[in-house]
Amino acid sequence: MKFKFKKKTRHYWKPHLLFLFSDVILLSRPSSWDLVFKSTDIRYKITWKSDLADLSIDEVSDNQDKELTNAIIIKAPVKSFYVRFNTLTELNDSINLINDAIIEAKKKLRSRNLRTSTTLPAAVWVPDEFQDRCSLCNSSFTFLNRKHHCRKCGSLVCSNCSSKKMIISEISTTYFLKVCTKCWENRFLTP
Ligand SMILES: [Zn+2]
Ligand SMILES: [Zn+2]
Repeated sequence: MKFKFKKKTRHYWKPHLLFLFSDVILLSRPSSWDLVFKSTDIRYKITWKSDLADLSIDEVSDNQDKELTNAIIIKAPVKSFYVRFNTLTELNDSINLINDAIIEAKKKLRSRNLRTSTTLPAAVWVPDEFQDRCSLCNSSFTFLNRKHHCRKCGSLVCSNCSSKKMIISEISTTYFLKVCTKCWENRFLTP
């Protein structure tokens, strides 16, 4: 099963494909050169994969932002992201298919007495255009006061409010990643 949709990257919605198998889901993006030269036979590169049993979908309420019409959030360990479909029908069909596949994958694990992973999904990044002020100190973002994303909670903060790094087990157990001051202060409270 294959889905066409647009994935929210830092600044743009870019066309991607999701491939749904019985146990895993793969995300792929087209080769940039094929897009530039408008190639008729576009090659795709796998950029992300997750066990279906670890996956969940959050629906996005339409009135949040026009940008998010027909969008959902795909939540999984390591990476969570917004995807947007062309039509409401495509959106609903895809949600049903993906949710059914998740249920089947979990059932299969249970029948083999394997429990699903307890890893938390990674936080989804608040889109850049949603805020022009830091969520913590309220300073305005400018060319010099750039936007940063906390890897723990996904919020948009300024560099002063994101100067700390820590291990975020839902993303990586090896690398220290940028976090906001609030998550840093709560680091011993959250799992
Ligand atoms: Zn700040
Ligand atoms: Zn945070």
